[in-house]
Formats: sequence, C-alpha cells, structure tokens
Amino acid sequence: MNTQPLISLEHLYRHYPSGDGFTTVLEDINLTISKGEMVAIVGASGSGKSTLMNILGCLDRPSEGKYRISGRETSDLDSDELAQLRREHFGFIFQRYHLLNELSAVGNVEIPAIYAGQNRENRQEIASGILGRLGLSDKLNYRPGQLSGGQQQRVSIARALINDADIILADEPTGALDKHSGEEVLKILEELHGDGKTIIIVTHDHNVAARAERIIEISDGVIISDKDNTAVGVSSVQDRANGSGVQMIKQRGMAGWRSFADRFNEALLMALRSLSTHGLRTFLTMLGIIIGIASVVCVVALGKGSSEHILKQISDLGTNTLEIYPGRGAGDLDSGRVTTLTTADAHELAKLPYIVAATPAVLTMSTARFGHMEANATLMGVSDQYFLTLGSKLLEGRFFDEQSVLDNALDAVIDESTRKTLFAGWQGSVIGQVVILKNVPVRIIGIIESDRRGFDASEQRLSFYLPYTTIQTRITGTYSLRSITVRVQDDTPMEMAETGVTAFLSQRHGEKDFGIYNADQIRKTITKTTQALSLLVASIAFISLVVGGIGVMNIMLVSVTERINEIGVRMAVGARRSDILQQFLIEAVLVCLIGGMVGIAVALGFGWLFRQFNTPFELAYSPASIIAALVCSSVIGISFGFLPARKASNLDPVACLVRD
Ligand code: ADP
Ligand code: MG
Repeated sequence: MNTQPLISLEHLYRHYPSGDGFTTVLEDINLTISKGEMVAIVGASGSGKSTLMNILGCLDRPSEGKYRISGRETSDLDSDELAQLRREHFGFIFQRYHLLNELSAVGNVEIPAIYAGQNRENRQEIASGILGRLGLSDKLNYRPGQLSGGQQQRVSIARALINDADIILADEPTGALDKHSGEEVLKILEELHGDGKTIIIVTHDHNVAARAERIIEISDGVIISDKDNTAVGVSSVQDRANGSGVQMIKQRGMAGWRSFADRFNEALLMALRSLSTHGLRTFLTMLGIIIGIASVVCVVALGKGSSEHILKQISDLGTNTLEIYPGRGAGDLDSGRVTTLTTADAHELAKLPYIVAATPAVLTMSTARFGHMEANATLMGVSDQYFLTLGSKLLEGRFFDEQSVLDNALDAVIDESTRKTLFAGWQGSVIGQVVILKNVPVRIIGIIESDRRGFDASEQRLSFYLPYTTIQTRITGTYSLRSITVRVQDDTPMEMAETGVTAFLSQRHGEKDFGIYNADQIRKTITKTTQALSLLVASIAFISLVVGGIGVMNIMLVSVTERINEIGVRMAVGARRSDILQQFLIEAVLVCLIGGMVGIAVALGFGWLFRQFNTPFELAYSPASIIAALVCSSVIGISFGFLPARKASNLDPVACLVRD
C-alpha cells in the first residue's frame, strides 16, 4: 500500500548568501505530501513560498536537509536527471504564465513534449486536445499577446499537463487574474485534483487557499501551521493516496536518435524564428561574416584567376618543351658564340623514346630589302615543326614543310607586323614576292599572326622564319645551332626528361656545355609565388572573419540576456542543459552559415562585375574554396557561439525565472 509519501522534506534549509553571511529563507522545513493531495501553501509576500515551491519542483536545491520523491533522495541526481523529473513528473504554473511570445498556444503547450521526445503529430494532437478541454479549442493558433490573462494561464496549465505530470505546482496561479478568470483556473485545478493529480498551490490569498484540502501556512521561512481542510474537499486524502508514486523513468517517446533529430529540428525552427524577430540586428551581425567570407573568397579567386592567366601564357609557349642552349648554363655570356650545339645533336635527341621532336633553331641578324624599303631583320631558322609546336596561326599562304628543310629552300614565312612594315603601301598579295636578305633572294610563302604574347610585340625589328638549313647553308655558313627545342611526350614527367636529356647530351659532348630552360620550372615558381601571395592576403581577410565572429559572440551574449526568461521556462518544463546549449549554438551557426552563403553570393556577384570591365583575366572560383568558406563560417559559428551558448545552458533556472 502507500508505504512512502510522494514528497517528503526533512530538516530542509535554504540559505542565500547576503553580505558577509547568509540569510535563511527556509528554516527546518519538515513536510510530507501524499499522492493525490491538494495542498495550499499560504504566507505573506517574502515568507519563502516560491523558494519552497522551486525546491519541490527540482528547479532549486536545498542548502541543507533531505528532499525525497517517492523515497528517492534528490541530492544524488545530476542536472539531467532533475530535468527529466521536471519534464515527466512536474507541471509548473506561474503567476505570470511565462509563455513564449513567438509561439502559438499549441506551440507553447508542446514544448515539454518536445523535450520528452514525443513525435510531432502526437504532441500536436495531445496539445490541441488539452487546450480544447480547457475551453481554448478556437484559440489554438493564437499567440500569447492575442489572449487574455485567463486564457494565457489556461495555456500554461495545458503546458503543465502535456507530459501527463503527476504533480502540478502552481505559484500564485490566480495572482495576475481578475476574479472570474481566477475562479476558472481554480476550477480547472480542482478538476485535475479530481483526476488524481497531486496539486500544490502557493498563494498569499486565503480565499484561494480555502479551496484546498490541506493548508500549510508559512511565515518567515518556517511552517507555522498545517491544517486539514477536508470539510470543503471533494474526497478524503486517504481515498486517493494509494497510487504507485513516481517512477523515475517512464517509457515513452521516440527512439533516441529520432528524438534527438526532432529536438534539433525544433531548435532550428526556434532559432530561425528568433533570428527573423530581430531582422535588422541579425543582418548587421551577419554583415561582418558576409564581408569576411566575401573578401576571403574574392581574394582567393583573384589570386587563382591571375595566376591561371599567367600560367596560360606560359603554357602557350609549350609546357612540355625543353629549350637547350649552348654555353654553361644561363649565365654564360658567350652562349651566342658557343658553337657546340649541332644539328646532329638534334637528330640524335629526336631518337630518344620519350622525345616526340627535337627542332633545331638558328638565329641571325640581317638586312631585308624589298623594292626601295630596307630594314634590319631577325632571321629565325627553324624546322617545319616549329609552327606546330608554337601553334602559330596562318593568315595567308602556307608554312614551309619537311621537304623545304631538306632542300634548303629559299622560302620564308613572315608575321603580320613585318608585312605591314616592309610592304607598306604595296597593293596586292605579298605571297610570292621576293625579298633580299643579305643578298640572298627569298620568296615569301606565308604570313602568320604576330606574336602577341608580349615578349617582342613592340619590337620594331622584322621577323623572318626560314628553314634552319637555309640559314646555315646560304646565309651564315655555320652549322652550330642557336638552340634546340625538344618536345617531350605528354606522359613523361618533365624532370625525368630534363635529366635524361642532360645525361644524353653531356655524354655526347663529354662535358655539360649547354643549359636547359624548362617552362615547367617557371610555371612552378609562379604558382608558388601567387599561392604565397594569396595566402597572405587571405589571412588578412581571415582576420575580418574573426572580427565578424566576435560580433556574433557579442550579439549572442545579448540574446542570452534578453531571453533569460525563456531559458528559465524551458528548463522548468524539462529542457536539458544540452538542449539549451544546442539551441543557442544552432542560432550562432545559422547566423554565420547564412552570412557565409550571402558572402559567397556577394563574391560571385563581384566576379560578374569584374568581368563586365573587360579585364585581362577572370576570377577563378574553386568549389573547394567555396566549401572551405562554408565550413569556415560554421566553425566560426560554433567557436564564437559556444561561449554564449554555454553561458545560457549553465544558467540557474530559478535565477532566470525571477526576472519577471
Ligand atoms: P514569496 O514567494 O513567499 O513571496 P520568496 O520565496 O520569493 O517569497 O522569497 C523569500 C525570501 O527569500 C525573500 O526575502 C527574498 O528576498 C529572498 N530571496 C529569494 N530569492 C533570493 C536570492 N536568489 N538571493 C537572495 N535572496 C533571495
Ligand atoms: Mg513568490
């Protein structure tokens, strides 16, 4: 049978630190309450009623003494277990209702069920059911601000009931209500008592207290009387005091992860709601993140775009080619006059398995004469493959071919700017015309586009491309080469090809009397330099992100202070500390993540704007940098949101609720 009381307090004290010592608010309280009782605790204002109530509801802990629920000592319980107790066994009704203004009636009522892990359909159905029973079926979607005091208090009663609490704790439930509404609330409480619930009402109003079966009077923290009032009561205490008491764990709700996902979902909705309530503030906070992310993404894209542009220019020159020059390395001033590199070298190099082609080149200066025009010209002796290797664009005529090289043909290809200079004023086709180069007549067979890569575009000198054999035999009479351009097979690493060529030629010559110029090396140097530069600028931009993060932290701290009452209510209805932490963390991450996404959009917009100005290169956004920006903003949200969120979750629920 009823071996132990539902609630038992033994020699319970509550002290508060004050000045140098303590003030004792509750003093040696001894009290037992059985299941199914309806108890009123009366006393003047400041006598300690609410303090007692908070201890009974596990919102506060006694300083000394024992508090047992169904025989179980509560001082052994940790904060999550206390939250579970509040969630499943206690229903709180406050004088000032403590409803959350952003939520509808149903939304407020279902909060405890969210924390208890009830699924959405279930809890909304139950919430609507209870509200309907309390006469609010037509007000389900009203916000607290749209309801009268009495209606709000009924919503808060519904909230106390949704988890099927055994014990209803009502602290001055009628204190803020007019007589009629107060009467309604008391009637509801009496009905609940009739259903078998244990009701504890705190009041300073003796008329309210008179409705209970038992009246406990408290004065200055001491119980001065404890009277049976069953004369008015519906039934005797003993009749109903034979339940099983409170079980510490009730099996209900969803499986762990579903419940977690559901709580996460609700916290997300809550965070979105709270962000949109403070639209401007949220936007200004986000601005820091937006600017930070936008500048990081832009800087990285600018760096990448410009380096890609430079690399493109280099690769136009052929990245899988090696240039071999005579002379001991690049510093050899005599390289022009060194005559060790020969056509035979080129032929032998071309036989190496990893080499596609080895084209010799000679270079000499000469005068060029056409009609009475005469100018200095650079004669480049190349092979027929030269134009292919460089991807030269033919405007008119043709390139010379292999046969021309074999035949030492007197054919020349010129570029567009040479044509314009030498044939200025000439009407008709230039192809087939004969130009005198150092007394040798040469026929123009093709015109190619001028080299616009910037290296010699402004050079006034005329350029003639002839078979290198022609220059060797007919113009200079020497067989040494100016350079050999080696094209390496695509799948051969350039380092390997370079080592191979160096070894091969060194062996042929008996010493290393040549230098190798590798476009790949230059490309690497440029890549490294631009990467280092981007990193530097990006790290400066990153500082602005950190500043943005501090802004987020600041506003979150303000938000915690503003919503302290909400935090108290959530804890009172059973939110775990982790639930509160999660809610504020989600809010911070959301601010940063949305800010990050807007920042990326701004950066993309900047790239678009950049293109409109016909700049030489475009911003190159890499998916990796965009993903990194999003990850970065989430990390900022988590790291800068953590402190405020932890502050919120560590708050003392009683202290939160006091600020009314
Ligand atoms: P009641 O609800 O009966 O009006 P309370 O329980 O709220 O009274 O308060 C009882 C006494 O405890 C009051 O004198 C009040 O000043 C004091 N008190 C309540 N909370 C605190 C606190 N956190 N720190 C110090 N004193 C407190
Ligand atoms: Mg009070």
